Amino acid sequence: MLLDWLFSPQCAACSSRATTLCEPCAASLLELGAACSRCAEPTDSAICRRCTREPLPLDRILAPWRFGGQLASAIRRLKFANATHIARDLAPLWAPLLAAVVGVNDAIVVPVPLHWRRRWVRGYDHAWLLALHGCAAAGIAPPRNLLRRIRGAPPQSTLPAAARRDNLLGAFSVRDPRLIAGRAIVLVDDVVTTGSTLAACARPLRAAGATAVFGVALARASSAPG
Ligand SMILES: [Zn+2]
Ligand SMILES: [Zn+2]
Repeated sequence: MLLDWLFSPQCAACSSRATTLCEPCAASLLELGAACSRCAEPTDSAICRRCTREPLPLDRILAPWRFGGQLASAIRRLKFANATHIARDLAPLWAPLLAAVVGVNDAIVVPVPLHWRRRWVRGYDHAWLLALHGCAAAGIAPPRNLLRRIRGAPPQSTLPAAARRDNLLGAFSVRDPRLIAGRAIVLVDDVVTTGSTLAACARPLRAAGATAVFGVALARASSAPG
């Protein structure tokens, strides 16, 4: 009985008995819908105003859902409540998208790294776990730890959009340029808001000779004011 209880699958968002997400939580997932073809910002035009004016150094950002509903609660539990199993629970939901982007571009999956100090405090790196389980569920090669966060900076979520960009200038470096030159890279993170974090990762990858850089996130939060 105890084993039954320990190993019975739980909804990633509300812990009720279910595999992946229970029905009510799954129903709360908001598909991304009409969005910018470059940065996935929800918009009715093909390319958002920001990407027309000042494109990000990424070929494309993709996310299956908008940030919100019970998915937001699952992501918060994964990041802040030690609920590391959630990375595995959610993997089947977005693995097809990851498999498609990686397959078409023969790309290497690289998670957005935490600064070592934050990883040490938290005990794990949520983007690494998302990428690890996402790749396993997609049946593709495991992620590579090819980026290093060289500056500990205030968490992006605490800052307004303009400060987010400055906060991250020079925050990442590549570990081994030889592994990156001539390859396409798919960056993985939990949520994308302004795209500043993915852009800060993409710049050193491009400088190291990456032929293309994509971003795949579980959820897209709108960066539009209001
Ligand atoms: Zn649920
Ligand atoms: Zn855009």
